[in-house]
Amino acid sequence: MPHRLLNNNRAWAAAKTASDPGFFTRLAQQQSPRYMWIGCADSRVPANEISGLDPGEVFVHRNVANIVVPSDLNALSTVQFAVEHLKVEHIFVVGHYGCAGVRAALRGLRVGLADNWLRHVQDVRLRHHGRIAHLPPAQQEDTLCEMNVIEQVCNVALSTVLQDAWARGQPVAVHGWVYGLRDGLLKDLQVTMDAPGQVVPVFTAAIERYPRHAEAGLADRAAPR
Ligand SMILES: [Zn+2]
Repeated sequence: MPHRLLNNNRAWAAAKTASDPGFFTRLAQQQSPRYMWIGCADSRVPANEISGLDPGEVFVHRNVANIVVPSDLNALSTVQFAVEHLKVEHIFVVGHYGCAGVRAALRGLRVGLADNWLRHVQDVRLRHHGRIAHLPPAQQEDTLCEMNVIEQVCNVALSTVLQDAWARGQPVAVHGWVYGLRDGLLKDLQVTMDAPGQVVPVFTAAIERYPRHAEAGLADRAAPR
């Protein structure tokens, strides 16, 4: 019921004003968030709430499966505004376990129009097939959620926006996190990049944390026929 939302809003605004009388006056003048959040549209992963931030503290872009591709004018415009105008210092790409978009891409499930968008996650799966396919099904899904974040961190870092910011000497770091629906906790995937020279080594080191099924493969080949 829409009324419920409007009633909630009035109660929320009143409570906010009661605890901090200058809150809305201050925010109405300008926003100066230090953080940008790029997350999944999933209703269970609200940026402000799970990171304990108030309105005005985090600039948010969300889409299905937290994807940032160089042809997406929407995402890149948001990143550009955040970096060049708001001067955010940290950009977090935040995936989450149990992501329906990632699951659909992994299993080849048909969702509809979104299948075309999720091709980007299928590309991640295909690129790292050797590090995913040998895992048990549940672990495949978690791993693809994490790898998708790592790939999207790389995409943000390789965008002209970040490359230009770093060339100017502007301090801004890109981080990769994943959120657990079961425990409400954010996990740092250790893929932080804050200079152009870090993109390839940080990305490579992150991906290499997911072993290929090398041992089994070698054992098969070495086995007597
Ligand atoms: Zn999701």
